[in-house]
Amino acid sequence: MTKNTKILITGAAGFIGSNLCEYFVEKEYDVIALDNLSTGHLINISHLQNKDNFRFVEGDIRDIETCRSLVDGTDFVLHQAALGSVPRSIKDPITSNDVNVGGFLNMLVACKEAGVKKMVYAASSSTYGDSIALPKVEDVIGKPLSPYAITKYVNELYADVFYKTYGLNTIGLRYFNVFGRKQDPNGAYAAVIPLFTKQLMSKQSPTINGDGTYSRDFTYIDNVIQANEKAMLATHPDAINTVFNVAFGDRTDLNLLVDLLKQSLSKYDSEILNVKTVYGPLRAGDVPHSLASIDKAKSLLNYNPKFDLKAGLDEAVEWYWANL
Ligand code: NAD
Repeated sequence: MTKNTKILITGAAGFIGSNLCEYFVEKEYDVIALDNLSTGHLINISHLQNKDNFRFVEGDIRDIETCRSLVDGTDFVLHQAALGSVPRSIKDPITSNDVNVGGFLNMLVACKEAGVKKMVYAASSSTYGDSIALPKVEDVIGKPLSPYAITKYVNELYADVFYKTYGLNTIGLRYFNVFGRKQDPNGAYAAVIPLFTKQLMSKQSPTINGDGTYSRDFTYIDNVIQANEKAMLATHPDAINTVFNVAFGDRTDLNLLVDLLKQSLSKYDSEILNVKTVYGPLRAGDVPHSLASIDKAKSLLNYNPKFDLKAGLDEAVEWYWANL
């Protein structure tokens, strides 16, 4: 299946997209990679540039002709390009909407016109919004708490309509707090694990928003890669035109997260254990707790996440220590 099977990966220079590129190039798929380099970095994929089965195109999903020309002739699309971050979307909802909704719609149109076999797209746990039910089960969502969450929910609505009206096969993967190698620790919108890792490495105090009791279902990148591959290859009719939680299925509060990170980093520098944590105000749009039920992905995709938080942190920390 792999040789001569063409995959378009959008958001390819970003954290998740670049890891997907690496994995599928290694598996000898023909990979076309699209990114406008707005939040992603070429260095994440530069080592792939000399491979025969990899081609990078700098371009923007807000341009329908770019989408059309790259989707044409591909078998599968793994759509990751978007502007992430709840705070970014609160500061600039228009650009988040243009990219995450307008760009997504362009990709759907291009996939429909080209007759791709399936478009697997990055959905988000933010779609659970203000629902306090735990664990999160795919069918029970609340009201969105941020512009970003709206964009990701609209993606699901559009994907559903494109299946019903045009027969386009899609699968949405609702990622829960993904972390791992290549995740950007820099900038105002850095995610908590790379940010805290970088701060701890330089013996700066990490700042927790709130009292540290908020919890998340932190998900290691290799679990996410597995989910994408299984979704891409899924043929069970109940697995098409639906969404799946992609998580480990366990939650950890931020106080424990910092302790685990310190333990992991202390293998490289034991003084990191002495760095104190600072506490700041809660952030708008943050939900108190997040925990996924992964039963649906287990039963319909045969998803079986191999990395729990501790194992994932050890791998991520090893990468950051060697690369930052
Ligand atoms: P990232 O910012 O590292 O990657 C996104 C990539 O998309 C970047 O390389 C960026 O340059 C590119 N991009 C942005 N706008 C573009 C445009 N207009 N045209 C072309 N490329 C564009 O973020 P990530 O963490 O890798 O996230 C990937 C996807 O997963 C996103 O859709 C995000 O919303 C979703 N997601 C991520 C998480 C997480 O925990 N990381 C959680 C839920 C959902």
